[in-house]
Formats: sequence, C-alpha cells, structure tokens
Amino acid sequence: DTKTLESIQSEISAHAVELLHLQFIDIEGIMKHVTVTSAQVEDVVSGKIMFDGSSIKGFSPINKSDLYLQPDLSTFCVMPWTKTEEYSEARFICSVKNPDGTDFAGDPRNVLKKTVKRAADKGFSISVGPELEFFLFETDAAGRPTQTTQDFGGYFEPSPHDFGEKVRTDIYKTLKQMGFIIEASHHEVAIGQHEINFKYADALGAADLSTTFKWVVKTVARKHGLHASFMPKPIAGENGSGMHTNISLFDIEKQENAFFDETDKKQLSPLAYQFIAGMIDNVKNFVAVTNPLVNSYKRLVPGYEAPCYIAWSDSNRSALIRIPATRGAGTRVEIRCPDPSANPYLAFAVVAASGLDGIDRQLEVVDPVDADIFAMDAAELKERQIDNLPSSLEAAINAFEEGDFGRNTLGDHVFEEYVAAKRNEWDSFRTAVTGWEIEQYQTKF
Ligand code: GLN
Ligand code: MG
Ligand code: MG
Repeated sequence: DTKTLESIQSEISAHAVELLHLQFIDIEGIMKHVTVTSAQVEDVVSGKIMFDGSSIKGFSPINKSDLYLQPDLSTFCVMPWTKTEEYSEARFICSVKNPDGTDFAGDPRNVLKKTVKRAADKGFSISVGPELEFFLFETDAAGRPTQTTQDFGGYFEPSPHDFGEKVRTDIYKTLKQMGFIIEASHHEVAIGQHEINFKYADALGAADLSTTFKWVVKTVARKHGLHASFMPKPIAGENGSGMHTNISLFDIEKQENAFFDETDKKQLSPLAYQFIAGMIDNVKNFVAVTNPLVNSYKRLVPGYEAPCYIAWSDSNRSALIRIPATRGAGTRVEIRCPDPSANPYLAFAVVAASGLDGIDRQLEVVDPVDADIFAMDAAELKERQIDNLPSSLEAAINAFEEGDFGRNTLGDHVFEEYVAAKRNEWDSFRTAVTGWEIEQYQTKF
C-alpha cells in the first residue's frame, strides 16, 4: 500500500488529524520530532520543513545548521492514543536533507540507505527481523521510574504471575492499529522482562519499526503507570535485554531467499556461509555500534543467554550466530549480540555490511560449534580457537577505530561523531566513583 499526498490527505480528514509530528533519529538512535499542523501537509510532504541541526547530538556545526526534513510517506500513521471522535495526531518518520537537497551525511537513516544500496547493486534486498526485549518497572508517586519490576514472573509464565500481560495486550493492540504485524508476545526469562515480536521487513523498514516499537512500548507502559526500559542490563544477576537480529538476503532477480540451498547438508547457500564468515570476521570491529553503552558489556557475560564468544552454530544459544531451523523462504541467520539500546539504523547497517564484506571477499567460514560454549574452560576455548567479544565499551571503541570497516560503513561524519560521543561516555564512566566501589572499599581500606 504505497501512500501518496492524496491518500494521506484523505486519512487526515477521515481521522480529523490536527497535528503532524515529524520524527527523525539522532546519532544515538534517540527519536526527535518537531510538530506542525495538518494544514501544512503539502509543505511537509514536499520537504519544506526546516530545523536547527546544531542542537541535535552528532548533527551539524552551528555555522551550517539549517537542515530539512523529508518524510517517508510509508511511515505516516495516526497515533491511536491521541484519537477521539473529533481530534487526532499523526506522525511521519523523516530523512534529513541539506539545504541543497542532497542527503545529510549525519542522518542515521541515510547511512543505512547506503548499505541497502550497496546490497541492491549486487542484486539483493536485505530482510531484517529484530527481537527487542524490555523491562517494565514500577513508578513512584511522582511518576519517576523505580528499580522495582512490575512482576516476578519468569519465562513464558502466564497471569496471574504475569501482571504485565494486560500491558502487553495493550501494546499489541496499539502496534496493530499502527500497521505492525505481530507474531508473538511473551514473558521473558527475567522478572519484569517481556518480548513482543513483529514481522521482518526490509532493513530500513525494520529500523523504522524498531524505533516506533520503542516509542509505543514506552508510551503505552506510561499509560499504565509503568516505565518501560530498553537498557541492556538493568538488574545484575538477571538476564539482560537483547535485540537478536535475524537477517537474510533476497535475490531480486530470482525472487527467492539467497541463503537457501536444498542441496547443501545444512541447506545453506555458499552466499550464506560467506555472509556468516563476514559477520564473524568483522564483529569485533562493530560491537561498539550494536552494543553502544557502558552497560551493554554487563549483558555480554557467560550464563545469561547472551553471547560473549565469537562462534556460530545451527542451534546453540551460547553462540554469537545461530541459524534458526526454518528453511526455504524463511532461511536466515540470527546474530545475538545486538541490544535494544543500539541505534537500529546504524546497527542494521554494520551487521548487513559485515556480511556483504564476507561475500565480496569470498571468505570461508570456520567450523560451527555445537557444544555449550559457556561450559568450556579456557584451555578448550583456546584449543578450539574461540575468540572473545570485546569486554568493555573502551575495548569495543578501540576495535571500532581499527581498520576501515567502521568508517566505510557509517561514513566520515557519523563515524567521527560516534567515536567522539562514545569516548566521552567511557571517560565519564571511567572517572565516576560508583556505588560498588564505595561498598567494597570505603570501610575496608
Ligand atoms: N535475554 C537474552 C539476551 O540477552 C535472550 C533470551 C532469549 O531470547 N532466549 O540476549
Ligand atoms: Mg527473547
Ligand atoms: Mg532469538
């Protein structure tokens, strides 16, 4: 269903849309928006709405700050929670343009579009299915988030353990009204942790859906007096939240999944093996993007279904890359390190680009590891040549700066702004004195 100015105008009158929120994404993946009235829809659609880019993290310098918003018409939708008989609000997700009409290099959407184009030039479209996990926390009398989870349920547990079911159902209904195709919803392993899965889409569409998903989950949770958090490891000793990313290439000319090959013993194509090899070869150089926070590295430790070793397998959930059992049109690889605090545009760009790099270089994949890697000791890991993911944000940024993978994939502008922002974040953490240090050291020494 391709949307046009005319079809959007009729949706505006059908739902009495009064305000239009023009959303775009900063370098950290945080959604920003400016609001105009629906009377301006023609100007909006023709990209005439301007904003000051110098106040957006990682965007433009103060002396070249005028930027324009170009809405992606397919992202138009009415926000269900604003709807009454005679009033509603809608949003567009926008790309950012320079005053001369060219793509603004600091816009993460534009970065992902370049990787999508790179795949298209080889005859492929990229399909991405992300799985975002999140926690629901109670709020206090002032509405501020507390550290008390909203329930004490566990994996797949139903009500009444899972009070979150009501909230999840409400989130589901809201997402559905906004055009999401929801496939599953369940309580996750940790207390207060949930997952709702939506159908895969092309890479850009999947990043737009992920951004929208986080916004909707937070909005609906708030309506229930709760705080939804996509922080990767909110509670020590409990599972963290991942954003497992399922990815495959679709051959545009043959109109078929390019990772499926009936004749292979695992029914995977040579291209799929090269793609996996490319991910494995580049992963150390991109986790700074898929796992962007100091806190991200507290999730990537043994024992919590999150990966910390660089290996792949058909079924092994202790491996970094897993091949879900589905074959045929659904053949895909699942990379398990990304977490939902990542900027989905940049994360899908680096994951896809790493696989494409494996294809370009015709890399050969190492043997799969089907045993439980968490149970292996250091000697066995060494013998099998199983390497570790970077164990801190600092190690990840250092690796991100090595070689040219990061710079080539994100472009100079985003690469430099990103590294600077992450170095700042690391310095701020490095020089902070934390509660743990006070507890361990203040009285003992
Ligand atoms: N929460 C786990 C993670 O951190 C994943 C658990 C699961 O989906 N089975 O990735
Ligand atoms: Mg899960
Ligand atoms: Mg998964």
